[in-house]
Amino acid sequence: MLTWNKLIDNLYLVKEDSDRVNRLNSLIIQGNEEYSSVLIDANYPFAEIDALYSKIKKAKMLIFSHGHLDHTAHAFYHQEKYGTTAYCPVQEREYLTDLDALMELVGFNKLGLTQDYRKMIKYYIKFKECEKVTTFDPGNISFKTENFIIKTIHIPGHSPGHTAFELSSTKKKTQRKILYVSDIGSHPYYGDLNSNISQYRDSIDKLEHIYLNGDYILVPAHGNYYIKKDRTFFERIRNKININKEKVLNSLNSHKAKSLRKLVDERIITPPERVYEPIRELYYLWDGGMINQHLIELINEQKVKKIKKADFLSHKYIKI
Ligand SMILES: [Zn+2]
Repeated sequence: MLTWNKLIDNLYLVKEDSDRVNRLNSLIIQGNEEYSSVLIDANYPFAEIDALYSKIKKAKMLIFSHGHLDHTAHAFYHQEKYGTTAYCPVQEREYLTDLDALMELVGFNKLGLTQDYRKMIKYYIKFKECEKVTTFDPGNISFKTENFIIKTIHIPGHSPGHTAFELSSTKKKTQRKILYVSDIGSHPYYGDLNSNISQYRDSIDKLEHIYLNGDYILVPAHGNYYIKKDRTFFERIRNKININKEKVLNSLNSHKAKSLRKLVDERIITPPERVYEPIRELYYLWDGGMINQHLIELINEQKVKKIKKADFLSHKYIKI
């Protein structure tokens, strides 16, 4: 089932009512005319997508904040069954159209996890490549609909094309604006091999500045959303990142170097009870990538030294 939460006139936060992990806070702009609805990050199980279209009939566009498959895996279904045009940031077009390119860019191939990721896609994500995707250049374009302007804000770091959206009504100036901050949220993730923690930190600052200087309903892609101003939302994310960094530093010592593989196995990022066993190998990328980002920071701060070995997971690290 989908739950529709009205945020302002013609704009809804639509969420699937299930206990599936990675459920999204999608945004739906309802148009008055046929073909004028706009969907943002509307990735649901197939039956829920059918339920959505039974209500909106047709959509003008499906806009993605970035190419991660928890947001985009069923874009092909929107396209093939309902003829909706999908838009994604230009940096991540291949994520939707070419699975091999995605696995190369994100790092699954480099870490020898290609088969594990393919298995996850087949059994859990049920992704199929899109034949064609329209791209946009985040930060440089706005979408206009019958009753809204959707401004794109480039917030790289989580992924290269990661995009936030500011939605404002063109019909009623008194309506509040919406700030959709996608995956800058309560579980900060920056573990892909093309993630970048320094950009992620800059993107937090950028969004916080916008949010604190305007009247916005704040919507992250996952978890809670905030009607009332939450002044510490972004500070809490920074704290979580810094706690991760502390954990990486504290798990190293100055007498015996540890490999990145070992650091992942110590489960300092994803606690053991949250590791999903059938895909446990994939945490070498998800957690390993995040640990690696902090190691880069710590090496720059001259708190840690890297001892090069044959590959990514075998490189060793020691506290200085
Ligand atoms: Zn993501």
